Amino acid sequence: MADEFCVVCGATGRQLTDGVCAECAADRTTLLSAPEHSVVVICPHCGARKTGASWKRAGASPLLTAEDLAPLVAVHPEAALREIRWEETSSTGTVRELVGRARVRFRGVEREVPIALSVRTEGQSCPDCSRKSGRFYTAVVQLRGGTERGGEKPRALRARLEGVWSEILAESRPDWRKAVSWQEDLPEGWDVFFTNTLAARSIARVAKQKFGASVKESASLFGRKNGQEIYRVTFCLRFPRPVSPVAATHPPLEP
Ligand SMILES: [Zn+2]
Ligand SMILES: [Zn+2]
Repeated sequence: MADEFCVVCGATGRQLTDGVCAECAADRTTLLSAPEHSVVVICPHCGARKTGASWKRAGASPLLTAEDLAPLVAVHPEAALREIRWEETSSTGTVRELVGRARVRFRGVEREVPIALSVRTEGQSCPDCSRKSGRFYTAVVQLRGGTERGGEKPRALRARLEGVWSEILAESRPDWRKAVSWQEDLPEGWDVFFTNTLAARSIARVAKQKFGASVKESASLFGRKNGQEIYRVTFCLRFPRPVSPVAATHPPLEP
């Protein structure tokens, strides 16, 4: 066996495959490859990734991560990918150019292989989020209890908030009421969805001025339309639990 040598480099004492040592075979083999341009489709609402026809990893970061990059790299069937360290070389809005340094094992030989990627991220609503957002809204009014400790049971809280809410609606203009699209019950209260942000803001003001609610307004970027950013506005209305009128007006009886 000692007289067997690699037909490429002439080395002896090496494991040969078809007369070629692993080092030389690795040199002449494309161990890693990637398409010239890759696309990663990410749901901007929940962070799920579109892989083929299905969506995975809901709840993941909406930003591109190393977990998104590794699957874009094709590995030679005889090679095993140990690790890739990525470095971004340039980035324009949605396209990022990266260079990875990969450690690859091939026929017992380990070596570092550079791999270049050009990745475009594309935002697309996943089916779950599309279903949820199928109903159009621009603002949400959150009805919540106060921040005091020892809260009410969810059912009692919701019933109380529902009562207050119907009083507020009765005090509101009909065109504001018409902007209410639907409402959802939650352990912590209600979410009321509006198709008109001005109407939601007006009703929030009524709740504050006539019903003593505290109001916190916040906006989040929802999307882009005709080059304009679209925001959804959240009004968080807190209604502290009223002090029981009996306890308030009658001092505790002496024993
Ligand atoms: Zn060789
Ligand atoms: Zn989603």
